[in-house]
Amino acid sequence: MSCECMKQVNEKLASHNGRLATGFQISADMGIRMRLLLATEKLDKKKRKPVPSVTASYCPFCGTKAEGQA
Ligand SMILES: [Zn+2]
Repeated sequence: MSCECMKQVNEKLASHNGRLATGFQISADMGIRMRLLLATEKLDKKKRKPVPSVTASYCPFCGTKAEGQA
């Protein structure tokens, strides 16, 4: 993220032994970029296959577009 929201939220969560979940994406120019992960859950919990990751393209706190987006 190009804003400071994630860092600020992580600083607050750290005092509660937590942090925001993040994932990595490979960009078109083969760079690695960090994205905030959204929580997902299985519809049918009996199926073993994991649910694909969903990442945020915009900061959920201030709406700033994530860096590296075309
Ligand atoms: Zn932000």
